[in-house]
Amino acid sequence: MSVSNSLKIGIVGAGIGGLTTAIALQQRGMQVVIYEQAEKLAEVGAGLTISKNAARVFEALGLGEQLAALDSPCANMGVIDHLSGDILVYEPRDQKETLSSNVIASRQVHRADLHKLLAASLIDADSCLNLDHRLQDISQGTSQVKLSFANGQVDHCDIVIGADGLKSAVRERLYSSEPANFTGFVAWRGLVDRTLVKDIALDPQFATYSSNDKLFVRYPVRNGDLINYVAIARKDDFLSESWAEPADVSEVAAQFSEWHQNVSDIILATPSDKCMRWALFTRAPLNNWINGRVCLLGDAAHPTTPFFGMGAAMAIEDSLILARCFEAENDNWQSALERYQRARMARTNHIQQISLERAESYMHNDPAKRAMGPSSGLGNAMDYDPRTAVI
Ligand SMILES: Cc1cc2nc3c(=O)[nH]c(=O)nc-3n(C[C@H](O)[C@H](O)[C@H](O)COP(=O)(O)OP(=O)(O)OC[C@H]3O[C@@H](n4cnc5c(N)ncnc54)[C@H](O)[C@@H]3O)c2cc1C
Repeated sequence: MSVSNSLKIGIVGAGIGGLTTAIALQQRGMQVVIYEQAEKLAEVGAGLTISKNAARVFEALGLGEQLAALDSPCANMGVIDHLSGDILVYEPRDQKETLSSNVIASRQVHRADLHKLLAASLIDADSCLNLDHRLQDISQGTSQVKLSFANGQVDHCDIVIGADGLKSAVRERLYSSEPANFTGFVAWRGLVDRTLVKDIALDPQFATYSSNDKLFVRYPVRNGDLINYVAIARKDDFLSESWAEPADVSEVAAQFSEWHQNVSDIILATPSDKCMRWALFTRAPLNNWINGRVCLLGDAAHPTTPFFGMGAAMAIEDSLILARCFEAENDNWQSALERYQRARMARTNHIQQISLERAESYMHNDPAKRAMGPSSGLGNAMDYDPRTAVI
């Protein structure tokens, strides 16, 4: 069903959440303008798990097969002892899901490939996407929202969706939000050419290793040509001003030097320009994502730590639910935004919370307690279907 296109909807941020929202709204006939601070559309070089719940959104947008084509199927998942290299847990995955492109399943993709797919799926990207537009200020009157950008441009929209991530300028300007809190964890991400570590057996293909203060997760991307890893360590403090920045491979290697050789070999094979460090931050949940004609989405609304690999999935789910709410309410934007918030807040708060708790389970003092399969503790979180969820 098409929605009236009389409203101009501005989206701040062309990350995974912003682009998915734009596509979902455009497909319903809505008028969308996106403002992105970057001069070029790009995503970081890293892997990303798109869990089944989020994969359903791609299906709804007609992009299911294209998402499956980006996947590097992992037939098995497991837990490996960080010192001996022994397999502690081995979980074969549903083969039909893993190997079929016409079945909805969790997928492991390269973030940049996914981002490219989303950008290519925008309708008339040339006119709706404004790059080099870093939001500097946002204010609203009774009939419009005024957006001012660092490049000197000013624009006006009827509604604005803040999809500008963890450090959201929209959130900072319009919401009384506490500063983000450092979680006590630092993450490094790297991509390694499989041929450089060809002697390492990658079975299980999706593997986690952990001690009481560190975690290492690896899985293949780009058809197995690259190994993606996330390495996480507890840190008492984090001195850098930046939340995401290039890192030295030697810094990660030093953290994991006592671990099984396979882990060190993968880390040491990281090209020097393909290693990034993230300080992991979180925020207490907001009790209102709506301020007048402005609403938050994705990490801007509910930044989620990576311990369940579900932050992007939440942003993707938000996108379809928001579009469904606009469709259900047609031009009544207040009701649409309220309906979206009602439909989403409890779920995103829950995933935010269990993701933080998961960090402690992964890095439990008791080795038996931390030897759990990658999906344990998730409960039925992946059963959520944003296409049919009650709104
Ligand atoms: C180590 C790590 C691993 C992760 N792994 C997974 C995983 O496997 N699966 C998963 O689902 N999630 C994962 N996540 C979480 C996921 O990356 C985020 O939840 C997701 O990227 C949020 O998407 P978003 O679109 O809301 O925000 P972002 O991806 O942060 O996008 C925000 C966009 O807004 C732009 N922007 C910011 N400020 C401005 C401004 N002032 N003006 C204009 N534009 C602006 C940015 O340039 C960016 O393009 C992981 C996170 C980390 C740190």
